[in-house]
Amino acid sequence: MIDEKWSALPEHGVAAGRVLAEIRALRAGDRPTHGGRLFAYVYDPGVAGLDELTRAAYAECAHVNGLDPTAFPSLLAMENALVGAAARLLGGGPGSSAPEAVGSVTGGGTESLILAVKAARDARPEIAEPRLVVPASGHAAFAKAAHYLRVALDRVPVDPATLRPAVADVAAAIRPETVLVACSAPSYAHGVVDPVAEIAAVAAAAGVRCHVDACFGGWALPWLRRLGEPVPPFDFAVDGVTSISVDLHKYAYAPKGVSVLLHRDPALRAPQYFGYADWPGYTMVNPVIASTRSGGPIAGAYATLRHLGEDGYLRLAEQTRDAVRGLAAAVGAVDGLRLLAEPEATVVCFTADDADLDLFVLVDELAERGWHTQPQLSYAGLPASVHLTVTAAVAPRVAEFGPDLAGAVAATRAAGPVRLSAELLALAGALTPEALTPELVAGLAAGLGLGGDPAGGPLPARMAVVNTLLDVVPVAVRERLLVEFVGLLQRPAW
Ligand SMILES: *Cc1c(COP(=O)(O)O)cnc(C)c1O
Repeated sequence: MIDEKWSALPEHGVAAGRVLAEIRALRAGDRPTHGGRLFAYVYDPGVAGLDELTRAAYAECAHVNGLDPTAFPSLLAMENALVGAAARLLGGGPGSSAPEAVGSVTGGGTESLILAVKAARDARPEIAEPRLVVPASGHAAFAKAAHYLRVALDRVPVDPATLRPAVADVAAAIRPETVLVACSAPSYAHGVVDPVAEIAAVAAAAGVRCHVDACFGGWALPWLRRLGEPVPPFDFAVDGVTSISVDLHKYAYAPKGVSVLLHRDPALRAPQYFGYADWPGYTMVNPVIASTRSGGPIAGAYATLRHLGEDGYLRLAEQTRDAVRGLAAAVGAVDGLRLLAEPEATVVCFTADDADLDLFVLVDELAERGWHTQPQLSYAGLPASVHLTVTAAVAPRVAEFGPDLAGAVAATRAAGPVRLSAELLALAGALTPEALTPELVAGLAAGLGLGGDPAGGPLPARMAVVNTLLDVVPVAVRERLLVEFVGLLQRPAW
C-alpha cells in the first residue's frame, strides 16, 4: 500500500519547508548525535558553530564531482591539503622520515583498508593466492577487504591480558604468499595500540608491506602524545610502515564520509589506482573505489580542520583525555566491573567479573538513563565487554556518569542476568548457518521483538535478550542471524 505520508515519490511534490520538517521529525527517533551521551557511531567535539560551518561548506560542494580533478580544481586543492595535513601529523612530509609520502581521500575507513589491501595485492601480481596477516583485534573491515579482493586472511590471536598479538606469532604467520601485514593504532574494540615498531620490523625483514590502521586513533594519538601521554611510535617515523589509514570523520570531527589513506612513497601507492581507456567513453582514472564522488565530505573535512587548527585539536584532545580518565575512574569505582584494558587512547572498555552483573542488561539500563554504550560479544577467549568511544563532548557530562552507572548497576543486579527460555536455548543450540531458513529467522525476529512495529522503530527498547542469544551461538550463526535480521529491516517502503 502506498503511504503518501512517507513516499519518496509523491504524486505531487511537497513544499521545501515541509520536506525539511518531515526529515527533522524522522530524525527525532535517532540516538542523539550531540551532547556527549552516545559512545559509538558519532564523534562530537562540542564546538559551538562548527556544525553550521561544515554544513555550509558541505552544501557548497555537494554537487561538485571528484571524478575528474582537472574539471574541479577546488576539490583537488582541498584533497591535497587534507592529505598533506594527515601526512604531516603522521610522520610524513618535508623534513620527516617519509618526505615522499602521498595519499588519497577515501569515503571512509573501510574503503581505506580495502585500498591498502588492493595496493599490496596488485603490487605482487606473481603471487597467485595472496594472503593478509592481521591481529585478531584488527578491524572487521580487513576481513571485508580480504573477502572482496579474494585475499586469504591469517588472523593472529591476541593475548587476553594485553589484547595485543605476540610479535613472534605475527612473524610466524608471514608466508611467502603474504602481501600485507596489518596492525592497529589503536584497535577499535579495546583502544589498544599494537607493537607497531616490532610488527613493522618483522614485515620489513620478510619484504612485506606493513599497514597501520590508525582509522580510529590516528587523529587523536599525536595530540595525546603532545600532551605528554606515553604514545608509542606508530606512524611513518617507524621504519617498515608502508601505509597508514586515518579517518577524518572520527577524531578529526569532520562530517561523515572522509578518511585518508597514506603511502610512504608514490611507488607504493601506484597499484592503488585504476586507470581505464579501453572503452568508448571518457578515460577513467580512479584512485579510490568510487568514481563519481561528492565534494561535500571533502569540503566539510577541509572546513573542520582549518577552523579547529592544531591548537583546537590539542584542546579537544585534552578534554577527551580528561573524560577518559573520569569515565575509567567511574568504572573502577563499581564493584564487579573491571577495565578490560587500561585506557591508552580514547576508549574505555570494561567487562564484568561478577556473574550476577549481566553486561547486556547493564547496557539497557544505561540506555534507559540516556547513556548509549556499545555491547561487544564474547569472542575467542575474550569476555563480553562494553565499549565507550570517548570524544571531547563527553567531558562536561562525566560527573553525571558515575551516579548513573551506579544506579544502572544496582538495577542490573536487581533484575538478575538474562535467562534464555528453554525453547530459545534449545533452538540456539541447534542453529547452524544452513538451518537458518528465512521463515525460521522471521519467527525468531518476531519472538525477539525485532522489526515488529514499523512505527515504534526497528529495535525493541531492551536488547539484552538479543545480545545474549547472539553471545551463545557460534560466530558463523551470529553472522547469518545479523545479516538476516538486517535484511528484514531493509525492505522497500512502497
Ligand atoms: C572505524 C574503523 C574502521 C572502519 O571505518 P569506517 O569509516 O567505519 O568504514 C577501520 N578501522 C578502525 C580501527 C576503525 O575504528
